[in-house]
Amino acid sequence: MIGKASVGARTRQRAVLGSALSLGLLTCIAAQTASAADCPGNPDAIGTSRTLVVDPREHPRIGTMQYAETLPLRDHEVVLSFDDGPLPRNSNQILAILASQCVKANFFLIGQMARTYPEGVRKLRDAGHTIGTHSQDHPLTMNKMPIEHAKQEIDDGIASVKAALGPDADKTLGPFFRIPGLERATAVEDYLASQGIQTWSADFPADDWRHISSSRVYDLAIQRIEAKGKGILLLHDIQARTVAALPKILATLKARGYHIVHVVPATPDRPATPTEPQEWRLHPTLETVAISHWPKVPNFVFASADAFAVPALSDFAGTGGELVPQAEPFDRVSHRGRGIPLPQEAPWRGETLFAMNSAATALPVPAQTVFEIPEMPRPTAEAVALLAPPAKPTIASARESQAQAISVSATDSRRAVRGTPVSGQNKRSMAASHQTRRATAVAAHGRRTPLKHLVQVKKRNV
Ligand SMILES: [Zn+2]
Repeated sequence: MIGKASVGARTRQRAVLGSALSLGLLTCIAAQTASAADCPGNPDAIGTSRTLVVDPREHPRIGTMQYAETLPLRDHEVVLSFDDGPLPRNSNQILAILASQCVKANFFLIGQMARTYPEGVRKLRDAGHTIGTHSQDHPLTMNKMPIEHAKQEIDDGIASVKAALGPDADKTLGPFFRIPGLERATAVEDYLASQGIQTWSADFPADDWRHISSSRVYDLAIQRIEAKGKGILLLHDIQARTVAALPKILATLKARGYHIVHVVPATPDRPATPTEPQEWRLHPTLETVAISHWPKVPNFVFASADAFAVPALSDFAGTGGELVPQAEPFDRVSHRGRGIPLPQEAPWRGETLFAMNSAATALPVPAQTVFEIPEMPRPTAEAVALLAPPAKPTIASARESQAQAISVSATDSRRAVRGTPVSGQNKRSMAASHQTRRATAVAAHGRRTPLKHLVQVKKRNV
């Protein structure tokens, strides 16, 4: 599963430093040439520039989308990672593209997919890619489920992929795991670490699980890689839009001077690539530069989500002849609750809640008069009529009530926004209060909002 002999970062740096500048440049050019020359029939291939050997026990969590550390990549180095396969129709095309470019990548397989398409797992192995796992059933609730359940998901996923790999599974399955939907939990990460398994997040996604065009996937991939300059790209080999976008992504990366790095696990026969601790940070702190000069590296990428491009309207239109494939089978499975890669609501939902809270706190405090109950006037004729036993509900009256309820709900919402939150429990409490003091309440508010109380009474009767 190793594409090339690994070369330690320290060793390479020392070699370059020990050489004349011109010799260093020649070495660099030679390396690029060798990379293309090693790719039969494709002199324009981007190739795989080097193999990085990592020890999961030294760095159990990587990927700046969620963690402080990421792979010790140099500037303009990218690791390609693919989740959720294998799904032969699209995964085989991804394999063909990678082979044509002599690129080695890191895959995270789902146990159920491996059981269904074991031949696809062996194709990955035979092509020399690194195989990690991605749970058995791809639940998007690993951050909530009991840890014993999460352990089962992890263990079963590994067992399924091993079963597909056969007798040599222990040698060919990498100790790498990506949590479905990136729904991380400390207990899950701790269990993985205790098993010597490295938890992979990523440094940038390309949103290829969303229903966007392949050209948008390409745009997002390149924009985000360029924004950080290096890192782990998260893709999905089960997606047709990814198949369509990948050749252009690789061509652009090559044209812009990027290099592909293949990551493999350390073994007794293959020690980890020597690195310095700061190399595992996206912005390593150099001794000659004051720390305060460097931007703070967020522990969680979504705190800096504004660095990502805002989706364009065309993302959802599919006009202009762009490829907008139908949903993949696994997508449809997800709609029945089995999960998809990176659901929209998973990592980003916190942003929405935060925005709402901010807006609420910015609103003015409601005046005291809002809560005042006026002195009880004499019951009006209208209120007395409302106190009469309700007529038997009919379909027409039920519809009317529904419409009125919507109107009242809107009123409550406006009140909530003005600073009087009306939770479900409060609503029930308020309704009970009105029921026991119906005459008082109706009389008190009869002239202003008789409809509201009528609706509440009717709603309780339905
Ligand atoms: Zn996934």
